[in-house]
Amino acid sequence: MKPLKKIVIAGGGTAGWITASMLSFMLKGTQTAIELVESDEIGTIGVGESTIPPFVVLLRNLGIDEQEFIAATDASFKLAIRFEDWFKKDLTYYHPFGTLGGQIDTHEFYQCWLRAKEAGHPSELQDFAPATVMADQFKFMLPFKAQRTLISSASYALHVDAKRVAQYLRNYSEARGVTRTEGRITRVRTKPNGHIEGLDLANGKVVDGDFFIDCTGFRSLLLGQTLGVGFIDWSSELLCNRAIAVQTENTDDDADVHPYTLAHAQDCGWRWRIPLQHRAGNGYVFSSHFLSDDEAIATLMRQVRGRPIIDPAVIPFRTGMRAKMWEKNCVALGLAAGFIEPLESTAIHLVYRAADYLLRFFPDCDFDPSLANEFNRRIGAEYEEVRDFIVLHYCTTQRDDTPFWRAVRRAPIPPSLRARMDLFKATGILRQGLEELFGAASWQSVYEGMGVRPSRYQPFVDKLPMSVITETLDRSAPILRSQVEGLPGHAQFLREHCRAPRDI
Ligand code: FAD
Repeated sequence: MKPLKKIVIAGGGTAGWITASMLSFMLKGTQTAIELVESDEIGTIGVGESTIPPFVVLLRNLGIDEQEFIAATDASFKLAIRFEDWFKKDLTYYHPFGTLGGQIDTHEFYQCWLRAKEAGHPSELQDFAPATVMADQFKFMLPFKAQRTLISSASYALHVDAKRVAQYLRNYSEARGVTRTEGRITRVRTKPNGHIEGLDLANGKVVDGDFFIDCTGFRSLLLGQTLGVGFIDWSSELLCNRAIAVQTENTDDDADVHPYTLAHAQDCGWRWRIPLQHRAGNGYVFSSHFLSDDEAIATLMRQVRGRPIIDPAVIPFRTGMRAKMWEKNCVALGLAAGFIEPLESTAIHLVYRAADYLLRFFPDCDFDPSLANEFNRRIGAEYEEVRDFIVLHYCTTQRDDTPFWRAVRRAPIPPSLRARMDLFKATGILRQGLEELFGAASWQSVYEGMGVRPSRYQPFVDKLPMSVITETLDRSAPILRSQVEGLPGHAQFLREHCRAPRDI
């Protein structure tokens, strides 16, 4: 064994500090030092505020107190994503976290529901998703505090203030021995074997190390620019390539702090609203082929609620991923590794997923290539899964009211998604790989929301008497609705249990 003596993380955005937190937690007590270089002058991207449930698990695994984290990052709870106007104008659906109904006599709920639906049952799929029913009524309760109710099978994530998260995780990492060096990297030095040797900073400092983690954002300074790793471009499958972002104050209306991320389809893309306790993040993701920045800003500003706190920022992006995310002695994480538009809030997730894989396939100074190969295979598959899931939201739309939506309908569908959809359309079976992020409830919710239903249910559901299915459906939806009605409002829950001070 030739253990790594020093790991250098280049970049201190969400990716850099999540990585520093995970490595400092796992490497505590070893001989490996961690140094993070970041530049206040360059700053961070400042967006990335909607998470998914594994983020809460990450906090727990790091031993972070959730209530304290929520108060420190102005966070609110997220039970679902609410999609407006995606399938058709004026139609809304939710992608909830947690379960979507419970098994009926050992049969999968969705299959039973399909059979009932075919026989004319009036229920909607989301009537049985506790997170959807809570989100739609602006209610909240921690599912594990609602044992013996249907609410206990919901799940949740957080909406967070990106800058405060980076600050929180910086404090966490520094307390566990991570050294932070301020300065702009002006040169990345390499060795004759092509490995990275060190970073030269504009202030004259030199930072050398054995292993380098590129968290420099879209610049991809180490992996992309220095090691020349190419980019796999997915811009033909996903047409959006820019975003406008603006923060607004919340009004006094509790409904401003909704327990879901809003994804509202627009004429040339879609608009997000992510409510925190005291302000909201808003944005418009669009395609520059169909809309100018000025028009996008005007459209967004017409729709935001509350007074703007900052000027709208324009963020160009390129959809795709690096051909390899680990090359020689360098791994890229976060935007330096790739980006898929934030429709399902997956980018931060891919950061700690990649950091997790890095810890699983952790190298020593010999850098056995099989570790990098397996890392690249696993994380590459996760990016592709996310791409497929996002494309599903577009390729199934029936909108054809603007040139953008007509172009979306002509865009190529990745063969892997095509295969998933064909299988689902047959009898509602999901084509799943190893350790995939999105489970059955996620795919079923989006398929149903986008009007895709299997042509028939699986035949063995016929073994179950129809009366058992309809009685279960007729009983459980009203029980869930009334259990949710008795819960506190989401804004009230935050005020009473994890209120964030206005100024931190
Ligand atoms: P950055 O925040 O850009 O950080 C880069 C770091 O590198 C900074 O510290 C910078 O100072 C440093 N750096 C760069 N160059 C140098 C240099 N030469 N010298 C020294 N330091 C340098 N993700 C989600 O999970 N949910 C969302 O809702 C979501 N919404 C998004 C909306 C938009 C419009 C976009 C574009 C992204 C969104 N993301 C979202 C993605 C999310 O913002 C990023 O994954 C996350 O913030 C991590 O970014 P990063 O740390 O890789 O990059």
